Amino acid sequence: MDTRVNPAETKNRFSFWYFLFVTLLVLTFQYWQGRSTVETIPYSDFKNLLLAGKISNLTLRDTTITGSVDFQNTQEVISADTWKSISSHAKPTHDFITIRMDDPHLTEQLQAAKVRYSAVIDNHWIGTIISWVIPALVFVAIWSFAIRRMGGNSVGSLMNIGKNKAKVFVQQKIGVKFTDVEGIDEAKQELMEVVEFLRTPERFQRLGGHLPKGILIVGAPGTGKTLLAKAVAGEAQVPFLSISGSEFVEMFVGIGAARVRDLFDQALKLAPCIIFIDELDALGKARGIGGFSGNDEREQTLNQLLVEMDGFDTNQGVIIMAATNRPEILDSALLRPGRFDRHVSIDRPDLKGRAKILALHTKHLVVAPSVDLGVIAAKTAGYAGAELANIVNEAALKAARENKSAVDMDDFEVAIDRAVAGLEKRNRVMTTAEKETVAYHEAGHALIAEYSATADKVAKISIIPRGFGSLGFTQQLPTEDRYLLKRSELLDRLDVLLGGRGAEMLIFNEPSTGAQADLQRATDLVRSMVTQYGMSDILGPIALDKQKFGAIFSDYPTQSLGEYSEATARQIDKEVQHMMYLAENRVRTTLTNKKEKLKKLASLLLTQETVNREAFSSVFEDRDNAI
Ligand code: ADP
Ligand code: ZN
Repeated sequence: MDTRVNPAETKNRFSFWYFLFVTLLVLTFQYWQGRSTVETIPYSDFKNLLLAGKISNLTLRDTTITGSVDFQNTQEVISADTWKSISSHAKPTHDFITIRMDDPHLTEQLQAAKVRYSAVIDNHWIGTIISWVIPALVFVAIWSFAIRRMGGNSVGSLMNIGKNKAKVFVQQKIGVKFTDVEGIDEAKQELMEVVEFLRTPERFQRLGGHLPKGILIVGAPGTGKTLLAKAVAGEAQVPFLSISGSEFVEMFVGIGAARVRDLFDQALKLAPCIIFIDELDALGKARGIGGFSGNDEREQTLNQLLVEMDGFDTNQGVIIMAATNRPEILDSALLRPGRFDRHVSIDRPDLKGRAKILALHTKHLVVAPSVDLGVIAAKTAGYAGAELANIVNEAALKAARENKSAVDMDDFEVAIDRAVAGLEKRNRVMTTAEKETVAYHEAGHALIAEYSATADKVAKISIIPRGFGSLGFTQQLPTEDRYLLKRSELLDRLDVLLGGRGAEMLIFNEPSTGAQADLQRATDLVRSMVTQYGMSDILGPIALDKQKFGAIFSDYPTQSLGEYSEATARQIDKEVQHMMYLAENRVRTTLTNKKEKLKKLASLLLTQETVNREAFSSVFEDRDNAI
């Protein structure tokens, strides 16, 4: 069931409409009653009746003449229409009305006919009411209505405006289940716990546990972020309140903030439930970034969101999920503990995942036996779930257009070709050569990580573009949180960073631009070793740069200012360069020794696109013997 949550109709509004309705009713009733007993006749009929002596008791008004008339035996003097009208009355009428015309001899004729007549100065009370009182009343009503809305404290009034326009989309029952989401098993796995919590919050509360309040789902467009959030609601059978980040940002300052407040109010009433904020980046852009207009508004809205998130406890049963494809621009305040501190990332699906998604979306189609979903999956590397769903739909449409009895391979081919043309512009669809380079690059990182004594274990390698400028990734699982790192450990990290580039150099004899980010991080690392940690033999145990706390533990480049001579600066540069060369040599030696394994891993990556820990280990089975 879908319901747009609307603000409750207010009482004052109701009474205003009620009043208007009654007034109109009374007026029409009076008008209608007035007409029913009076015959409206043309002036000519009136004159004829007057001359025939049938008129009595005449009243002259500004624009009309009314009076009594004896209609009996007047058929000859009046028009046929009037006669017909008179005869149609069940009760004979004695009153008439006619429009007064400019007739200078009327009084003479009245005198001659000995008619009793008088003149009346009209008070057009009906007309007056309609033309003056009603508009005035309407105006007063609207005005007082508006005043009441704006009056009181200003926060209250803004809240009402926010309420009025809030486009919170509430779905009480979600039909989406985890079985409707394929190819992103890890993300599903991570969200199972949330489902459990929403189903039986008591169980978690009893143990005093706390769940993350905010879960940020990060992934390229169409990878199923919304679908996954809905599936969590569907599995837990709780209401799903969704709103888009871009909808929060309104023209008037204060409205966005009011909407946030309203959203959380509603959520607390519906708890347990899920709040889903799509396009969080539209709202949560780092403060200070972005256009010159509407900045205040966005900041206020963002601040309000932070306040609301801090102000409640997960144990109240509300879980906030948000989706973004640009996590790097989010305000860091949003990512702090107690806010969106858990991140679930969704990658574009790999070969197996794509096959599963295709199977899911073709479930209800009549598909020809010739169709091999594995082949389609292989052709659609880099496609997200939404694009695959679209291909299936296009194929089905084409088959239907051509009156086929089943969707066949040809339909899919055409749909893929069409999608590729559209996608190449928007997305990165890699060429085979590029893919090979990325495969060797990632395999290089992984291999060095595996053979270094202290580097974190490889959890997953992938050559599926992740967006944000990376073409593939090697994920290492830190075995423990580190607060201290020894020189050897830093050097191992350095080697892993250079492993990608090293592999490219070894196999293709030249580096590619893909290693730029690695080089940056490696250089920063070495610089810190030299200038902050005193780990260089040549420069000795001196802190040349002011340390930025924890810089070495974060993924972000450090920026530091030092106070030293130009000669020292030159020395630093030279030492950094030297250490980088040494690292490059170490990496090359390892990779050359393990070239066969490197090739094996790269080809595994090329066929599977994603290699997890187990498959990875199988390549290194004879590792201990090889060392
Ligand atoms: P996002 O929110 O990441 O942009 P959506 O969740 O809106 O993407 O996905 C759009 C549609 O694409 C879904 O409704 C679904 O039909 C299809 N889709 C995307 N990802 C998947 C998936 N992993 N499994 C099945 N269908 C998917
Ligand atoms: Zn790399």
